[in-house]
Amino acid sequence: MCGIVGYIGKRRAYDILIQGLHRLEYRGYDSSGVAMISEDGELNIYKAKGKVEALEHFAASKDLSGTIGIAHTRWATHGEPNDINAHPHFSQSGRLAMVHNGTIENYSVLKDALSSHGYNFISQTDTEVAVHLIEYIMQKNNCSLFDAVREATKRIVGAYAIAIVDKQNPDQIIAARQSSPLVIGVGEGEYFLASDATPIIEYTNKVIYLNDGDIAVINRGQELKVFDSNSTSESEIKITELQMSIEQLEKGGYPHFMLKEIFEQPKTLADCISGRISADGKRVTLSGVIEHKEKFLNTNRIIIVACGTSWHAALIGKHLFEEFCRIPVVVEYASEFRYSNPVVNPGDVLIALSQSGETADTLAALELAKANGAFVFGICNVIGSSIPRATHSGCYIHVGPEIGVASTKAFTGQVTVLAMMSLLIGQMKGTVSDEVVANVASDIRRVPALIKDIFKLNDKIEELAKIFTYAHNFLYLGRGYNYPSALEGALKLKEISYIHAEGYPAAEMKHGTIALIDNDMPSVVIAIKDNVYEKTVNNIQQVKARGGKVVAIVTEGDTIVADMADYVLEVPQIAECLTPLLTAIPLQLLAYYIAVNKGRNVDQPRNLAKSVTVE
Ligand code: GLU
Repeated sequence: MCGIVGYIGKRRAYDILIQGLHRLEYRGYDSSGVAMISEDGELNIYKAKGKVEALEHFAASKDLSGTIGIAHTRWATHGEPNDINAHPHFSQSGRLAMVHNGTIENYSVLKDALSSHGYNFISQTDTEVAVHLIEYIMQKNNCSLFDAVREATKRIVGAYAIAIVDKQNPDQIIAARQSSPLVIGVGEGEYFLASDATPIIEYTNKVIYLNDGDIAVINRGQELKVFDSNSTSESEIKITELQMSIEQLEKGGYPHFMLKEIFEQPKTLADCISGRISADGKRVTLSGVIEHKEKFLNTNRIIIVACGTSWHAALIGKHLFEEFCRIPVVVEYASEFRYSNPVVNPGDVLIALSQSGETADTLAALELAKANGAFVFGICNVIGSSIPRATHSGCYIHVGPEIGVASTKAFTGQVTVLAMMSLLIGQMKGTVSDEVVANVASDIRRVPALIKDIFKLNDKIEELAKIFTYAHNFLYLGRGYNYPSALEGALKLKEISYIHAEGYPAAEMKHGTIALIDNDMPSVVIAIKDNVYEKTVNNIQQVKARGGKVVAIVTEGDTIVADMADYVLEVPQIAECLTPLLTAIPLQLLAYYIAVNKGRNVDQPRNLAKSVTVE
């Protein structure tokens, strides 16, 4: 969380910084700010609570000159979201300005020590402590900013991506990372810096992903230098070419990124599948799996770690792996797993699932498993992000940049990859017949077209949303493969509409939750024709008997549920294990339209941010 942007070159830095902040706003929008060294050599900091727009408004009449600057969009961890806690932060003397993404765990110890040396703090942030520390080291050791940053990184415990400018050196930005992402764009005589590549792509497609422990010295017009904080030698620089287009970062005529991303799913899933299912539909190819075949064939269990929506996809993955590979799977919240003293042994396979590839808890969980000898495999969307670089192998979902904070196309991409993986491993293991592989694989190929079909429900769902916009509570019920779909449907509604919703295994409802059901609490029930269809039908009866309203997602042509539910949404017939890919669509649209009706900021819901790089 939090987005960092930096620029040094020939253009006006402000324009690039602001545009970059807009691109990174999905990472946090509590406040934003810029620091630029002006043509007159002043270090100007402008910051404002709220969205980047507020900053633009505030800065409009100010001196915006200068060709070097850093900027930040914040998701507060230390100190409330206000103008003072907004980044950048000045050092004590006003000579340095710094932006930071991450959390400094030992900030209070450092703060006490600096206070005893006469340092004053105007904000409540951990970031201000770090910039004071850097200046303190510079003054005490009479050293360069680079040396001070290197020394400070030895004293700071926590996660950070930082960028610093020095008023006395308008030709340099120093940047460093540990557990928070940082990318440098290399242009012609100019450098760009950002938390991810989206602010960079319109200027250059040449990027360098910094590694943990790297400190970059970015001097105007000179070659970039990167050092490892623990050694004196320069690190080798690897330039990567970005495969991303500006169009992917724009709304393309949709009112919200979320709606665009929902409607993109036929295309994103076609991209996700492309080249991975043989032309005859009989074989799945995922090189990251095939190259490490024996790890999957010999393991006695798979652990999947994930957070949020990815955790729901992981639960579907559990069903898939158990059904097709007959390998027991444990699904863990990464944040719980890492602190639970988990039993991980050599021979275990751990799959880390994360859209951004930067989720701090998931990254820490996989490092822990790796240290215990497990084989770690990443399933991520953002190419070049930290998780793919930390794992032994992996597989990208290739659904393109997901900007809406509520995940949609990444969820279906993750489920699709998990489905393909389970077929491939099952086939290699001999736990699934070639016939089943061929049937399911050809159904996977049908998914994009079937989703297009489901979009015909759009207007109906928009109307339905009007009926339910004023409900205060929702229950989402599903079973089997669609129990995680119910969890995901409820999460979508909660996060963007702020309506309380609970996802539940339909049969579990009678053990407590059924007490909540009345005329005011609608239930969304996923009742597709699967092996527990009749049971789910019974569960619907139980809700109806208590006066509850039911919106049912059913298989095309279903008349039984249609007779008892208040509203039905039909999805086409497909292999049972793939039904979550179809049921996800009406659930996403329903949450979207309810949130729009409530006037919510769908793409940037309150208190949330994408790419959760804090614990
Ligand atoms: N800890 C810093 C703050 O609260 C940065 C937060 C973040 O990266 O999410 O301002």
